[in-house]
Amino acid sequence: MKKNFDVIIVGMGPSGLVLAGLLANYGIEVGIFEKNKSTVKEPRAVSIDDESLRILQSFSSHQAVLRNVSQNYGSHYYDAKGKLFLKVEPNSCENGFFKRNAFDQPTFESALRKHLESKKNININFSHKLVSIKNETKSVIANFEDSKGIKKSFLGRYLVGCDGGQSTVRDLIGVVMKGSTFNQKWLVVDIYKTRNFFRHTQVYCNPKRPSITLPGPNGIRRYEFKLNDKERSEKLSEDFTRELITSVGVDGEAKIRRSQVYQFHALICSDWKKNSVFIAGDAAHLSPPFAGQGMNSGIRDVGNLGWKLALAVKRPKSRNILETYFLERKEHCWALINLAIRMGKIMMPKNSLESFVNASFFRLIKLNKKLLSYVSQMKYRPKPKINKGIVFFHGKETRNDKKLIGTLFPQPLVQDKKGILSNLDEVLGNKFSLICYIKNHETYISLEKYLNKFSKTCRVVVLLNHSCMIFPSRHKVVRDFNNLLEKMDTRVPENSILLIRPDKLVSAIYKKNNLHYLSNLLNNNEIFSF
Ligand SMILES: Cc1cc2nc3c(=O)[nH]c(=O)nc-3n(C[C@H](O)[C@H](O)[C@H](O)COP(=O)(O)OP(=O)(O)OC[C@H]3O[C@@H](n4cnc5c(N)ncnc54)[C@H](O)[C@@H]3O)c2cc1C
Repeated sequence: MKKNFDVIIVGMGPSGLVLAGLLANYGIEVGIFEKNKSTVKEPRAVSIDDESLRILQSFSSHQAVLRNVSQNYGSHYYDAKGKLFLKVEPNSCENGFFKRNAFDQPTFESALRKHLESKKNININFSHKLVSIKNETKSVIANFEDSKGIKKSFLGRYLVGCDGGQSTVRDLIGVVMKGSTFNQKWLVVDIYKTRNFFRHTQVYCNPKRPSITLPGPNGIRRYEFKLNDKERSEKLSEDFTRELITSVGVDGEAKIRRSQVYQFHALICSDWKKNSVFIAGDAAHLSPPFAGQGMNSGIRDVGNLGWKLALAVKRPKSRNILETYFLERKEHCWALINLAIRMGKIMMPKNSLESFVNASFFRLIKLNKKLLSYVSQMKYRPKPKINKGIVFFHGKETRNDKKLIGTLFPQPLVQDKKGILSNLDEVLGNKFSLICYIKNHETYISLEKYLNKFSKTCRVVVLLNHSCMIFPSRHKVVRDFNNLLEKMDTRVPENSILLIRPDKLVSAIYKKNNLHYLSNLLNNNEIFSF
């Protein structure tokens, strides 16, 4: 038997790399294994969202990634006649980042890999293929084969299969995927040095040839074309590919980086954990790419699992928390798969009549400001929201509070007493924290003695409404610099104390008259002080 690890990660795609980054941040000993010689070279995902960037921020790798990201683009939708019928151009940044950003998956993976190489507690192993496991309740033995056929075994407390759509780990723990596989095939082509300088995605909802072009960073452009029944060969000629590109723009002569035919799936596993073994990312679910969410969902999985694994390693008595992983993730993950299916239906009308009806519907929406903002600001994208798991209700919450609990706390830019600006999460840190959100000094005075007591268990941050000046305090005091919180659809209640999870979901909300519930919670549970 070789080395012991706290956590063994199988697969160095986005999910595995991000999970390793998250665990490294908590000082967890990680062995990460990849069957190939390097991270994947195929260009696949092209869109990274605000929630993923926020997760990267939690282990300080967002800046390196953002260097090769073209931030903040939208989508323009065209009908069968090529007429524009809808613009989706979200510009809000409630998570501290823009909602849609163009990136290149191989460049992204190599930035994450570089980040991991600088971490002493991360042991990186390429050319190691997982072949079998011995999965017990408190440990797991993972057996690998290297490129020379040499067998190696490693012991871990936990193992996470981030090994993609063809997951070996999924098969080894005996869970199956359920859902649908679509008959349609799509040709996906990436080209270098685009001459199409339009910033947004162009979606041609043409029943004869649904197609999409998406901007990428550094002059890359993605083209996607739905293939007809007769065109189902994996080896479509280059001339044919160029003809298709020419049909939607000016890049017909461009150098082709890669072209591949894909078939899409909408599948999810019925469980993501067995004993000490978990699955995450494409190993646990597969989404059609129309909402650009496959990889982003995988990053959210490990954002949910990472801190729980760290906690279970550091406080083994609390390892039950790991049972909440699938419970908290499954609904949101499936909601995004369904969103992708719905978006696919808009992109692929069956005939001209359906194309006309779709386009007319969206043209009518423009007459209603609220509906227009719902669509153009991408409010249709389901937000993470959990009602069960690590969320706490004391029964005195308002309707608004109930809406906020289980969702991501917004991430405003905040200013401290020295005038320094930072993103809120940097002030909160990566463990449980308490945000005391207030508008005036008098309220703070009335809550101060409680905050002093609570700060013995977890970090306390006093977050001031935009209208309040920073005052002296023994706790960290920051001000909502751009008044983001007042602009949120779900109001953050003033004069309240919010329990924030390490992954920045709101876990509970308390007012002055029910703080005894918070005291009890913090006193009787070791998870808050890990
Ligand atoms: C055409 C296309 C467009 C897409 N566009 C988007 C988009 O815009 N936005 C988005 O969010 N998503 C998109 N996706 C989806 C996205 O690419 C995937 O969801 C993402 O790559 C999944 O990441 P992962 O880490 O879970 O798995 P993978 O990226 O598949 O990584 C799994 C890794 O595990 C390794 N592995 C497998 N088996 C073993 C083993 N036995 N031992 C050791 N290692 C093993 C593999 O070699 C691989 O490196 C798109 C996908 C496609 C095909």
